[in-house]
Amino acid sequence: KPTVLSHKDHGIDPQLVSANAIRITQTLQENGFKAFVVGGAVRDLLTGVKPKDFDIATNATPEQVKRLFRRAFIIGRRFQIVHVMFGQDLLEVTTFRGSATDGAPKDEHGRVLRDNTFGEQYEDAARRDFTVNAMYYDPASQVVLDYHGGMKDIKKKTLRIIGVPEARYREDPVRMLRVVRFAAKLNFTIDASTRAPIAVMAPLINNVPAARVFDETLKLLTSGHAMACLQQLRKEGLHHGLMPLLDVVLEQPLGEKFVTLALANTDERVQQGKPVSPGFLFASLLWHQVVEKWEAYKAAGEFPIPALHLAADDVLNTQTDALAIQRKIGSDMRDIWAMQPRFEKRVGKTPYKVLEHPRLRAGYDFLLLRCASGEIDEEIGEWWTDFMEGDSAEREQLINSKP
Ligand code: ATP
Ligand code: MG
Repeated sequence: KPTVLSHKDHGIDPQLVSANAIRITQTLQENGFKAFVVGGAVRDLLTGVKPKDFDIATNATPEQVKRLFRRAFIIGRRFQIVHVMFGQDLLEVTTFRGSATDGAPKDEHGRVLRDNTFGEQYEDAARRDFTVNAMYYDPASQVVLDYHGGMKDIKKKTLRIIGVPEARYREDPVRMLRVVRFAAKLNFTIDASTRAPIAVMAPLINNVPAARVFDETLKLLTSGHAMACLQQLRKEGLHHGLMPLLDVVLEQPLGEKFVTLALANTDERVQQGKPVSPGFLFASLLWHQVVEKWEAYKAAGEFPIPALHLAADDVLNTQTDALAIQRKIGSDMRDIWAMQPRFEKRVGKTPYKVLEHPRLRAGYDFLLLRCASGEIDEEIGEWWTDFMEGDSAEREQLINSKP
């Protein structure tokens, strides 16, 4: 039985609730179904943060949901969910899941492979990850249903896993990454018994399909608190499986400076509501590996440009296997890296050609990071800032006056 919280208990500001989320819950309810805003959106509303997306939970089946909305698509990922679209806005509607994972198919480490059974609302609550993520908000009555003491944990700023921690991490090791991300993002502490098993169970991450780990890593790095997340991951011993060799990078003084700057930059952009490109982010995280291999190829007698491409291939091949970096992101990373030597060649027509590069902005931002980290002379970045802003006479003069 859930605790029923009325508006005076939870104080959610109805203004922060998406109009489309209200449309969906209302339509479902008018057709005789239960429907609630659930998960991260409720957690964010309760902490006074404007949610970035709204998930809806219902007892209607995916087919029943689909029939009620004009633009609704059943998506079969790990479980079937319905995407309901209003213009550009996309909301996920999920049917209550059953809690019984005992009979579900598992891998040899106990990771649940499929749990597609529907269930009652209390079962749906029990299979969610943390108490603060297992609350249901009905915009119509403005009531919050709290099944696992989430409200108390919100007040205590505590992340607590639902059920037996070891069992829940075994079922899905990604929950270890999620708890770290939420702790950093919300500035919550991880309850001692939720935290304790992580150090021992961390290696289970290695058995999770790379694409899922990548998705979670990307969420972590674009949470607006990437630095805090990474520090917490290192503290919990969780960074190994994520970014092979990232710890090596972080131990090189120049590499650490570079990654720290890149992440601080990303955090700032996210907090200002600006978009961040995954390609830029991963290009930054892996740059010092590229540099190291680039030097090695040059030392072995390769010309600089082919050496850089060989180094980029090596790094991308290793990281693609480990992290399942999508092809598009990989090609963005390669573009950003490949532009770097061209910035350093400031003679003849080269700078003008660089100006026409479709990825100029990303390449230039990356160059500025290299300057700020002390890898190359600040003067190069300043020269490019002037060159990009200059008119044709000023540009000509910059090329002639190049130090
Ligand atoms: P945010 O969207 O801010 O990253 P969130 O809590 O909404 O955070 P989602 O990944 O959108 O995270 O998941 C929505 C909800 O689904 C969660 O709040 C949680 O209740 C449930 N959930 C997501 N992933 C898991 C998981 N691995 N195990 C159990 N429950 C999960
Ligand atoms: Mg969410």
